[in-house]
Amino acid sequence: MSGYRPFIGLEIHVELATKSKMFCGCCADHFHKEPNTQTCPVCLGLPGALPVPNKKAIDWTVFLGLVLGCRINKHSYFERKQYFYPDLPKGFQISQYERPFCFKGWFDEVNITRVHLEEDTGKLIHRKIEGEKVTLIDFNRCGVPLVEIVTEPEIKSAEHAKEWLKKLQRVIRSLSISDCDMEKGSMRLEANVSVSKNGKLPSYKVELKNINSFRFVEKAIEFEIQRQTELFEKGQKIEQETRGFESDKGVTYLQRSKEEAFEYRYFPEPDIPPIVFTDGELDKIRKQIPELPEEKRQRFVKEYSLNEQEADYFVSNPSAAQYFEVLYLEKNFNLDFRETARLIINKKIDWENISPADFKAEVAVLQEGGLSDQVELAKAAKIVVDGNPKAVADYRKGKTNTVGFLVGQMMKKTKVDPNLARQELLKILE
Ligand SMILES: [Zn+2]
Repeated sequence: MSGYRPFIGLEIHVELATKSKMFCGCCADHFHKEPNTQTCPVCLGLPGALPVPNKKAIDWTVFLGLVLGCRINKHSYFERKQYFYPDLPKGFQISQYERPFCFKGWFDEVNITRVHLEEDTGKLIHRKIEGEKVTLIDFNRCGVPLVEIVTEPEIKSAEHAKEWLKKLQRVIRSLSISDCDMEKGSMRLEANVSVSKNGKLPSYKVELKNINSFRFVEKAIEFEIQRQTELFEKGQKIEQETRGFESDKGVTYLQRSKEEAFEYRYFPEPDIPPIVFTDGELDKIRKQIPELPEEKRQRFVKEYSLNEQEADYFVSNPSAAQYFEVLYLEKNFNLDFRETARLIINKKIDWENISPADFKAEVAVLQEGGLSDQVELAKAAKIVVDGNPKAVADYRKGKTNTVGFLVGQMMKKTKVDPNLARQELLKILE
């Protein structure tokens, strides 16, 4: 297997969380809704119906493109992508081809080819009714704004793909333009994989579809690299094809071979005028870009001397971060940053669901010295643990009653309540 190098590119589809669909006024939130209750002549593609583009969806796509470091096509348009499939009642999908809204971006050391906007399709539901296999169609999802992000084939490994996608999800979520929920299908992943022995990008690629979790994307790519490498070793040629991922068996399987590849016959959508952005409009969108997770992580590491894990905690828990920073706006608070960060992290509060009243109460507790007591307690516990290595080792071997001895040692140093002492010691020992 040595000497082979994988080339991996990713395609990510993200449903935007706009109120209405891409080209009509139907509700875009289709999850768990009664099938076919959120449709109209436009999203059902009935003859004569005219699409009207959703401005918010276009602005959000450009917003995302700017966050991903893309250049913006100030003059752009939609195109028709023709193909016949039952989930697409019009017989074509309105998408972008020649002039996507965003192109040539860069995110976390991977170049982004393009970010464009299109409409989602309906959903096919395969069922057995009275012993017979039938396929039902729900058009509620048809016409929901869908962003497609395409990367260059610069992903280095299966694990790299997983980690990069997680970061991308975090960024998109932080912009509040999509919930990026893979179980709900509001984030969908595809990977293009090829392997090469001479280090040059191969002329073929295998597209992996039907991947609905980060774990599966990693497994599917790993399997595919292995499969292609083995074919090479046997001296066989690898075909350009589309493969699905069977999560139960951890294998990929052939869906479509090159011979059946689609010819989409793209042409500009005649019912929608070109979309033009002025510099002023782009500046307005640019101004809305918030502090991004990666920037925040770096700031927390630098400003508060936190380690990567601690900073990561605050990036994934914005309310905890706010709490932490509110404390430091109070000048009379002069505790060590890291000590405070650790205490906040150890509190194990559900920060995303904390009520404003509870939030204030928590801040008050810390300001009234609740935190200092705890700092003292934590320090005392650490001294006891460091000073009694044998008891600690015994405890970790399973002699859990030695914790009583440690509590006794701690009581000698502070007049602390034995239960609190035990809790503090266990935090370190566990
Ligand atoms: Zn509609």
